[in-house]
Amino acid sequence: MCGIIGYVGKKDCLKVLINGLEKLEYRGYDSAGVAYIKNKKIEIIKEEGKIVNLKKKINFKIDSNLGIGHTRWATHGKPNYVNSHPHRVGKITIVHNGIIENYLELKKELIKNGYSFKSDTDTEVACALLDYIYKETHSIEQTLAIFKDKAEGAYAIGLICDDNLDYLYAVKKDSPLIIALGKEENYIASDVPAILEYTNKYITLEDGEFAKISNDKVIVFDKDAEIVKKEIKVYDGKSGDLNKNGFEHYMLKEIYEEVEVVKQVTNDYIKDGIKSLTSNMPKLGNYERIDIVACGSAYHAGLVGKSLIEGYANIPVNVELASEYRYKKLFLNKNVLVILISQSGETADTLAALKIAKEKGAHTLGIINVVGSSIARYSDDVLYTKAGAEIAVATTKAYTAQITMLGLLALNLAYKNKEMTEKEVLEALDEAKKLPTNIQSVLNEADFYKTIARKIFKHNDVFFIGRLTDYALALEGSLKLKEIAYVNSQGYAAGELKHGTISLIEKNTPVFGIVTDTNIASKTLSNMKECKSRGANIIALVSNDLKLDKEIYDTLIEVPKVSPIFQGVLTVIPLQLISYEVAKLRKCNIDKPKNLAKSVTVE
Ligand code: GLU
Repeated sequence: MCGIIGYVGKKDCLKVLINGLEKLEYRGYDSAGVAYIKNKKIEIIKEEGKIVNLKKKINFKIDSNLGIGHTRWATHGKPNYVNSHPHRVGKITIVHNGIIENYLELKKELIKNGYSFKSDTDTEVACALLDYIYKETHSIEQTLAIFKDKAEGAYAIGLICDDNLDYLYAVKKDSPLIIALGKEENYIASDVPAILEYTNKYITLEDGEFAKISNDKVIVFDKDAEIVKKEIKVYDGKSGDLNKNGFEHYMLKEIYEEVEVVKQVTNDYIKDGIKSLTSNMPKLGNYERIDIVACGSAYHAGLVGKSLIEGYANIPVNVELASEYRYKKLFLNKNVLVILISQSGETADTLAALKIAKEKGAHTLGIINVVGSSIARYSDDVLYTKAGAEIAVATTKAYTAQITMLGLLALNLAYKNKEMTEKEVLEALDEAKKLPTNIQSVLNEADFYKTIARKIFKHNDVFFIGRLTDYALALEGSLKLKEIAYVNSQGYAAGELKHGTISLIEKNTPVFGIVTDTNIASKTLSNMKECKSRGANIIALVSNDLKLDKEIYDTLIEVPKVSPIFQGVLTVIPLQLISYEVAKLRKCNIDKPKNLAKSVTVE
């Protein structure tokens, strides 16, 4: 789930490994380690906690030209020294991302065959299994081919074998792994940022494929262990994506990038009137229902999408958590469109849901940020959100890009279903053109949001309420505060409060009342009044067409009124910035919140 880097070539291997791991730090991890070849022997150095701890143990003068490195996000066994990677059994040393699901079964078998284990990890079991097969076959290629049939679950593995120290090996299933290509040097990595400083050319390994890599040769084998020719991809992201560009945190930088991101997302669909919208979107059929499947913030984006698609295109939409969807009874056929939303395109539950939806014959559409990622590749159609690399663990710009894209999709479906006229669609697209200027005007109020953060940062309970799209935004605002500021906040459908939770409102409890939907504004305003009567500190976040009675709120945040299709894009920004400021005042690790990882590639 976390970071893998491997290197073979003439550079200082240890520097490349550590540098690569540092580039993957944003994904969140709890220990780190490297294995490298010194005087034809494999040495392992690992340490609990952050990479700085590991660095203290490393002598960077050591001459080595092949090695593997890992940052671990513990799934099996505590985040301690023994459990950290690399693991070594017999002649095999590995780093592993993912989960070997049948590890207990395998472990029993291996113990019967004389193996004993030091750690609690599934990874050490995988390592022992590889050693066991290798003892029989004396060939790593055959070993990897057999391993794939025996190991269940998700894995990206980098491997070194004592008998062949000129090569790195790699194998993967359901967990991302790339092979990056340099001049007389090659790399493996779990994600592009690890290698971008050295090369932008890479190969993506597909599930079941494995590879043998030296400094001048990369041989990839397909599922059937036949050599396969792979397409070389060129990463076209900006390297600036990987720097803070003067901002104190990646999260803040990424919030400010929303102006550009929304320009990027909308550009292809607005430049040439209705034609650009209809011809640049995938050709979708007539669906009796749409299922939107996602996790975390992407799920909240899906809830915004539901309001928009139902409201404008008149198609029923279910929004489902991928971790539930993959195990529940599904009513799918070719007349159902399943939309999968994921920033990384590698989210394990969403990927599993996609596979099930395809098996059951539904048409699938990925709304994905990372180009060429697994969900993007397996979906029948894909809409890329073009938000660039997002480094902060808590999503901001990728979420904004998702809801912008869902707005465009709703418009396209509404036009196709004749629920909106060309004139109405063009008017909405005109609003999309103005979004960057409007986002900038919201960002210009950053100092005001800081004053709000100062008023609320000591509170351990915060509420966010709204209805329909505003409720979906309330959930996202609440999640941001939980994720990065560790505040136990609640996102609530405004009308639900009095069915129980209003009992938690005390004197000065901060309640964000989000109101941008004119049709039901009066309803949410009444709920805000109910909270105020019980002593709550009301922060009203409203579109500037609404004129609020001063009695209702303590603090008023206004954002420009735009078409409901794009209103969420503006409304979420103050919530993102206030969470950021609260996290800063609470001295939290904003870009890398505790226990969280950027892309959740395990179940
Ligand atoms: N399941 C493995 C472990 O707990 C790998 C975790 C990871 O992906 O970092 O060690």
